[in-house]
Amino acid sequence: MDFIKKWPELSLAGELPAVEELTAALKASGPELQFLYKFANQTRSEYIGDEVHVRGIIEFSNICQKNCNYCGIRAGNESLERYRMEPAEIIQTALRAKHFGYGTVVLQSGEPAPYTPERMFSLIEEIKKKTDLAITLSIGVYPAETYREFRRAGADRYLLRFETSDREKFTELHPDENFETRLKVLEDIRRADLQTGSGFMIGLPGASIEDIARDIIFTTRLDLDMIGCGPFVAAPNTPLAGQDELLADKEIYFKTIAILRLLNPRVHIPATTAYDSLFKNGRNRILKSGGNVFMPNLTPARYRRSYQLYPNKPCVDEHADQCAGCVKARLASLNRPLATGPGHSLKK
Ligand code: SAH
Ligand code: SF4
Repeated sequence: MDFIKKWPELSLAGELPAVEELTAALKASGPELQFLYKFANQTRSEYIGDEVHVRGIIEFSNICQKNCNYCGIRAGNESLERYRMEPAEIIQTALRAKHFGYGTVVLQSGEPAPYTPERMFSLIEEIKKKTDLAITLSIGVYPAETYREFRRAGADRYLLRFETSDREKFTELHPDENFETRLKVLEDIRRADLQTGSGFMIGLPGASIEDIARDIIFTTRLDLDMIGCGPFVAAPNTPLAGQDELLADKEIYFKTIAILRLLNPRVHIPATTAYDSLFKNGRNRILKSGGNVFMPNLTPARYRRSYQLYPNKPCVDEHADQCAGCVKARLASLNRPLATGPGHSLKK
């Protein structure tokens, strides 16, 4: 496993390991595996420091017209009560983020967002004016000009995963979209001068270790500002319900992030929520093996049960104050300081 030592420098110079080498690292076990995690943690510390950036997420609507096969809030799921938060409530919630000392507020919803782009622009302007926090959007696919308007209104970042780099699988999973469109849209987002985040779901049904290696390479080639990946968790009332066979080697979910860190030394990598659905202290483990961002839930408690993209989502019975307390306790237990400031891309 000594070969992984050169990955951070090589990748910064634009050179990536072959799929075979990555696959070998994904199969690491015993002391080699411990070395992978330790080296990923060390690389994170060396290239971007020990601070953890905290981005509070507001799931402001579960109304969605799309039917991604994996997602618990897809349009076809009729067992859900649908909601949208009023703009005034979204702004109040964003103010909580400021109160808790978070640097960023993330607005996420089904697609399209339940307000016209014009109303979204004024909402973004208002949040910026009232909080001066960094604003990340995770509201899906729009025309290129709309991304530029989001930026002008005050949005700083945008999250849109490519979900899988396997074109056929992408088409299978997304009745509403194709892979080429998704890539074009990611390019539109970047051109709109929004810091761009993307990534994939780890362990989609049928995915092999080589597929994960290819997804890691694909992510790295995108040269992102943020990489958001998390385990696939089979959701009830979706076409993939019951397909919850985890990858045989459960460490793969963690190895993937460690390797992504080695190949993307200066990129923000969050410990995504789905890690805590599947593993006890999953998000803490990610922060110890490459992750540097934490995204506590800010969504008001009464909506949380209706925003389950996947089951066993943590904190559905908690409210934002409890999540804020939990973040502080987590970071203290990990001996990691809470970052101050917005935590913008380190690549700009
Ligand atoms: N509508 C927006 C934002 C909400 S979905 C969008 O699709 O981008 C945000 C992310 O949740 C998706 O990108 C997907 O990767 C993840 N997600 C959805 N269903 C999931 C599941 N069953 N398991 C794990 N992640 C899931
Ligand atoms: Fe809607 Fe996003 Fe879920 Fe797809 S992943 S169904 S676009 S909320």
